[in-house]
Amino acid sequence: MEGVNQGDVGKYLTLEGFRSDPWGAWNYYKGMVQRALELREHPFYACIHRLVDAGYIKSIITVCVDGALAGVRNVIQVYGDLLKCKCVTCGRVYDTRKLIPSGRFICPYDKAPLKPMITLYGESMPEREWIRAVVEIGCSELLIVLGLDPCEAPINMLPVLAKYHGVKVIVVGYEGNHIGYCADHHIISDPIRTFIDVCRELA
Ligand SMILES: [Zn+2]
Repeated sequence: MEGVNQGDVGKYLTLEGFRSDPWGAWNYYKGMVQRALELREHPFYACIHRLVDAGYIKSIITVCVDGALAGVRNVIQVYGDLLKCKCVTCGRVYDTRKLIPSGRFICPYDKAPLKPMITLYGESMPEREWIRAVVEIGCSELLIVLGLDPCEAPINMLPVLAKYHGVKVIVVGYEGNHIGYCADHHIISDPIRTFIDVCRELA
């Protein structure tokens, strides 16, 4: 990525790393947003839009922060949203995309750095989003799990919570871990390919 030392990539995902070099960190985050905007052209995202618009999907819980699902209704981003940023001093919120062309990630009111509204290592998850995810799971009829890291706590407990509430669980692409054990139906296949195929069947 332009202007970013690969050794700094992990650093910029920590709170300490951001504080030590906010401008270097923004160079990295900008790249994440640009890649996410390109990703939105992928057929997978078109499928998500169609299934949500048709009412097959009521909500999406994602660990992605890059904004690839921006514009989809009822998306819960449990680790926050890179498309928003906030002044570290006064708390004013800005649209990241509007600041990218100028590259000035500075609050115009007090000249303090802006921080992306994502959960960096060393920070707590946004409480509101986590509660939304837990409530949404409890109210669901069916949960489809795609590409969830079984080691990624506490998100990895959401399928268990679904089972606790009697929600049917379809797991795509897992076996031999606790997420697989939650499955009422298990599809051993590529998650993205499977999702696109399901969309074609329903369309
Ligand atoms: Zn400010």
